[in-house]
This record gives sequence, C-alpha cells and structure tokens, in this order.
Amino acid sequence: MRKAIHTIVFGLGLILTGQAIAQVSEKAQAASEPRQVILIIGDGMDDQQITIARNYLVGATGRLQLDQLPLRATSQVLTIEDKVGGKLVYVADSANTATSMATGVVTSPGRIATTAGSDEDIITIVELAEAAGYKTGIVTTASVTDATPAAFAAHINFRLCESPDLMSDINLWGLQLGNCQPDLKRNGGKGSISEQLAASGLDVILGGGRKYFAARAENSERSVRQLAEDNGFGYVNTLAGMQSARHERRLLGLFSSGKMPVAWRGEDGRVAEVLDKNSTIPTMRCEPNPKFASSPTLKQMTDSALSHLSRDNPLGFFLMIESASIDKQSHKRNPCGSIGELQQLEEALQSAMAFAQTHPRTLILVTADHGQAAQLIPYGGIFSSESEPVRSPGKVARIITPEGGILTVNYATSTSSDEEHTGVSIPLLSNAEGMGLIPAFVQQPQIFDISRKYLGL
Ligand SMILES: [Zn+2]
Repeated sequence: MRKAIHTIVFGLGLILTGQAIAQVSEKAQAASEPRQVILIIGDGMDDQQITIARNYLVGATGRLQLDQLPLRATSQVLTIEDKVGGKLVYVADSANTATSMATGVVTSPGRIATTAGSDEDIITIVELAEAAGYKTGIVTTASVTDATPAAFAAHINFRLCESPDLMSDINLWGLQLGNCQPDLKRNGGKGSISEQLAASGLDVILGGGRKYFAARAENSERSVRQLAEDNGFGYVNTLAGMQSARHERRLLGLFSSGKMPVAWRGEDGRVAEVLDKNSTIPTMRCEPNPKFASSPTLKQMTDSALSHLSRDNPLGFFLMIESASIDKQSHKRNPCGSIGELQQLEEALQSAMAFAQTHPRTLILVTADHGQAAQLIPYGGIFSSESEPVRSPGKVARIITPEGGILTVNYATSTSSDEEHTGVSIPLLSNAEGMGLIPAFVQQPQIFDISRKYLGL
C-alpha cells in the first residue's frame, strides 16, 4: 500500500517519477493520429488450451482467428517469492502475472500491482495512459475486481480483498489467507479493490462482480456502486442498458453477482472423470450453458467498450479485455467450458480486428497469463497392449468433435477439487502493428514496455 511506486524488483520494471509522467504526457499529446493498444488476455490460455479449442472449433486442419495474426512470440512467465530479493518460483497465479503485464515489475502470487515483500504500489499502464490523456478500459468475463482486471487499476497486497467487507480474515475453503488491513482507508490505504475501481479514472469497466459493489464503502453511508456513480460512472446491469448507455459518461457495467456464466458446458453438465483400470469413459459433446443465455457476450462488451473509448477521442486509448474462464473451467476439469470461453475470446478478437481496419494505429496483443492443467493425450495409447492395464492418472474427458474425431483431455495436476496452474511459457500474438516491436521471445513484464512504447508513454 505504500505510495513510493517507483521500484525495480527484477531489473525489468521502470523507475517512474511524477516528472517522468509529465514528460510522457507531453510526448503522447504530440502524436498526430489516435493510437490504441488492445491487450486481450486468455486466462490460462496456453498452447494445450489453444490446440484443444482449435481441434474442436475449426478442426485440426483449420485456423482460428488467433492463428491468422501475423506475429507470434513466446512469453516466459516470471514470479518471485513474497519477500525482498525473493527467489524465483516457477508457477504463477493471475495476480502476479497481470501485475507483470500491467507494470513491468515481477512480483509474488496474489499481489495486485504491489511489490513482493516491500508492498509498494507500482504504477500501471492504465494509470500512465490516463495521466497522458488516453482513455482507458477493462472488460472481463470474471468479476471486474478479479485478479487480472484489478492489477491494471488497483494496488493491494492480496487479490481476494475485493470489497470493503473482505479486508480482514480472508477465508477460502476453510484456509486462513491473511488480510489487507494496511490498505484500509482508516489505516491510510486506498481501500478494497472495488472501492479503488470506483474511485479510478477508468472510462469503461465491464464484467461481473455486482456483489463487490453492493457493500457499504468504508467510512461512508453509501455503497461502493454509489461511490462510482458519484465519481461520474453511469451504471448499467443489462445488455440493453449497456448498448444504449450515453457516451458522454464513463461506463460501469456489472452483469452478474460474481463471475459471469460461461457459454458452454459438457453434455448434461459432465466434466472429466476418473479413468479406472478396466473401465472406459463414455464420450460426450459440448452444449450451450443454459445459464449463459441472458448474459452479454465478451464480444458485445468489447464492442461497447470500443465504441465508448473511441468516440470523440483524438488521442486514443488502452483497453484490456479478458476471457477469464478458460482458466476457471480448467480448474474445474471442464474442457467444454474452456473451449467455449476461448470461442468468446475469438469473437472479441474479431471485433478488435474489425476496429483496427478503420483505426490503423491500433496495436492488438493477444496473450495468456500462465499455463493451465489440461493436456491433450492419446486414449489407449502405445502402452495399452501391455499385460497390466494402463490408465492415465488424474481425470479424463472424451469429447466428440464436429469433424468426427474424439479429443481426450486429461487433468492431473492435483487430487483436490481444483486443478492447478502450470509453469509453461505462453504465446504472445500481435497484428502487424507489433512488427519490429515484439521480439520472438519476451519475458512477460516486457508486455508493459511494448504497450508503453507504442503509446509513446
Ligand atoms: Zn487460475
């Protein structure tokens, strides 16, 4: 929570002073044509997830929208222990990876734009862009207070401090996970994540998470949502409301209590199952999730955000768009859920590409934040003729693809009710605007530098 934002944690971050922010502001305003960065994050969208989705959505010989982007790099994820000078750890969470992309600084799991161990606030690309006069937005299928969107516009030591009533004694699955008391307003902090978003300079906030804005704000008789309205946000909670919202006002759209429902599910709600020695697992198809029907899609939220941010805007904007539940469905061993959310990302990318056709100075970046549990494996496999029956450890789903094959997807990172992330490097893709700006191999914090350079910040 400390305000000295300007720290190099791993040699990759920037030292930024108030004077530096003023200088970048002048430089950005000198640009003649509006410039945009649209950063699209598929949470947990590693190459296993992309391959599974490609096979299902367009067939193994088909091409996703993602595959048609001209530039493809590899992004190495970096994470450290939660202490000053902490050692590297090799598996990340969404809070520290989003912090890497938003600030250029490597931090520890659970942290939202704060430094490992020393808990200093780190300035984000959204804050820099805003200071230079750019418009800014975050769009997600998770709660807008979830780790990925939060790290672009809030600063707090722990990702689960999403509303004023969740600042102390954080409990998850019966585990005591610490607190965010130093960030309480009465202790000189900026408050919970929802309070920080409500007080932020963001122009567009779209996603789930109504419950985090319903709580009474600290030191106030008003709810967090009312604080946002006091700060100039127009509030909507339906698709129609979002699409007819006035462009002159900043826009806060919250379409579900927590994370938004996903588009697809396994047949009759089935997920991956244990493959016993002598049993077979019946195949299934993916089907629409009935709970999704009344939700705005990621594409519809993206279209509204692009329309809001580009209207009467001679300078440009920074927009982060997240398809969050590729990850969340993989934790729950639901490959159809992850495929449907990758399809949502594809549609949002199509909107971004169409926007870039009429707004040529638009850098589109598509990446993941970290790897996930799903693996595409053989069913039966080369060892199935051995005398002792062979089975895959973990849990398995067998999905019939529209082209008539069967995808066998395995989850085997954990015996708990949830799967774990993995430490693999992940793709970073870009449209032609990224040529010359993005090397073939990057470390994840470089995504901050790439966005900053493109916007002249
Ligand atoms: Zn996750």
